[in-house]
Amino acid sequence: MEKVTQLDTFRIITERVGKFNVQGKRFLIPEMNPFSSHLLAGIFRSFGVNASVMDTYEGLDLGKKFTSGKECFPCIVTLGDILYFMEKERERLGDKFYPENYMYFMPEASGPCRFGMYNKLHRIILDSIPGLDKVKIATLSSDDAYDLKGLIPKEKLIAFRKAGYLSIVVGDILDRLLWRVRPYEKAEGMADTFILDARNKMSELFSIHSSNGNFSAILSDIEKIVKEARNIIDLTMPRKPLIGVVGEIYVRTHVKSNQDTIRTLEKYGAEVVNASIGEWINYTTYDQVRLAKIALRLNLKKFQLKEVKKYLLQYLKFNLTLFYQYMQQRKVYHIVRKYIDIEEDHKIGHLEKVLKKTNTFSFAIGTEACLSIPSALGLARRGYNGVVNIFPFTCMPSNLTASITKPLMGKLNVPYIDVSYDGSFQPGREAALRTFMYQANQHFKTHGRP
Ligand code: SF4
Repeated sequence: MEKVTQLDTFRIITERVGKFNVQGKRFLIPEMNPFSSHLLAGIFRSFGVNASVMDTYEGLDLGKKFTSGKECFPCIVTLGDILYFMEKERERLGDKFYPENYMYFMPEASGPCRFGMYNKLHRIILDSIPGLDKVKIATLSSDDAYDLKGLIPKEKLIAFRKAGYLSIVVGDILDRLLWRVRPYEKAEGMADTFILDARNKMSELFSIHSSNGNFSAILSDIEKIVKEARNIIDLTMPRKPLIGVVGEIYVRTHVKSNQDTIRTLEKYGAEVVNASIGEWINYTTYDQVRLAKIALRLNLKKFQLKEVKKYLLQYLKFNLTLFYQYMQQRKVYHIVRKYIDIEEDHKIGHLEKVLKKTNTFSFAIGTEACLSIPSALGLARRGYNGVVNIFPFTCMPSNLTASITKPLMGKLNVPYIDVSYDGSFQPGREAALRTFMYQANQHFKTHGRP
C-alpha cells in the first residue's frame, strides 16, 4: 500500500478544502441558529445554487464516533451533521449516490482558537470513509472578513454579499422577536409556531429577491411579521427580569447544543436577549480595519510607499464595508423598533473602548472573548438583571471570558452564571439555572430593569 506522507495530507487538505465554485453542486449548509442558515440557503438558491440546510444534531453519535472527545463541541456536532446527511443520502439513492455532486460548507476563523481547524479535521474524516473523499469542503475565512471571492462568480459578488449581510440582520431580528414575545405569549406554543412560519416566509423571499436586489420586498414583509407578532403578547402580563446571554457563537445560538437554555431561563421567569450573529460579522470587518490601520502606520514610519498604498486601500475598503453594514443594520432595526421594543445591537468600536478603559482584555488577542467580556460589562451597567455565559466545554476563549467576567460581575453585584455544554446531560444544570433566576429576580425587585 502506498504510504501517505504528511506532505500528501497537506496537499489533499489544500486541494479539497477551499473556495470552490458552488454552481452545479448540492450545497450543504450546517444549521447554527434556527434562522440565518435557512436564509443563507435561500440566497444561494436565488443565485442558482441548489443549497439546503442539513438536519442538525441527529448525527451526534456519528460525530462522537469519529472524534476523541478533545475537539471543540461545535466541531463534533457539525461533523455529525454532514456524516448523518451522507449516510441518509447513500441509503436513499443507493447506486445513484454520487458524492462528487455534493459540496459541504464549513467556514473558518484564524486566531488562537480552533475554528480554523474544523474543516481540516472534517476533511481527514471524510477522506477515511469510502467515497466521501469526493465531497469537497467550501470555506470562507474571517481572515478576509468572509470574502466570497472564488465561491460565487465575480460579477455576482457584491449582490450576494449585500443579501448575505441583510440575511444575518433579519435572522437576528427574528431571534430577538421570538425572545421578546415568547415570555408573554397568550397561549403556549404560539410564538414558536409563528416564528417558524416567519422564517420559512423569509427564506422564500430571500430565494426570490436576493439576486435582483429587491430588498424592499423583504423589508416590507419583515415589517408585517413584526406587526403580527405584537398580537401574540398578552398585554396584561407584567415585564419580567431581563437576562443577557454572551458566549461562544455556535453553542449559544444552536438550540439543541445548548439544550435550549433560553427556554429554561424563560421557564423560571426570564426575558432573554442573546448576543447577535451580526456582532461576529461586524467584528471580523472591524478587525480588518484595525489590522490595516496598524500596518498602515508601521509602513508609514518605515516610509515603504508601496505597502502604504496597499494598506491604505485595504483600510478604505473595509471601512466602507463596515459603514455599509452598520447602515443596513440600523435601517432594519429602525423599521422593526417602530412596532416593538426589541434590543438594538451594539457597535464593535464601543466594545473595544470598554476593554481599553477597563484594561481587562485586548482586541490584539482576538477571539470571541473580546466581544463577550465588554458585552457582559455593558449589560450589567445598563441594568440587566443577570448575565449568562454559554459555551462549549473546553472552549478556550469562553473559559477566558468566564475567568475575567465572573469577578467583574461580582463587583457590580449582577447575577452571573457560566454554562458549558458537551452533549451530555448534567443532572444539576436546571437547578443551577433556577438558582441563578432566583438571584436575578431579587436583583429585579431591587433595581427594576432597563
Ligand atoms: S471559540 Fe471555542 S469552541 Fe469555537 S473553535 Fe474556538 S476554542 Fe473551539
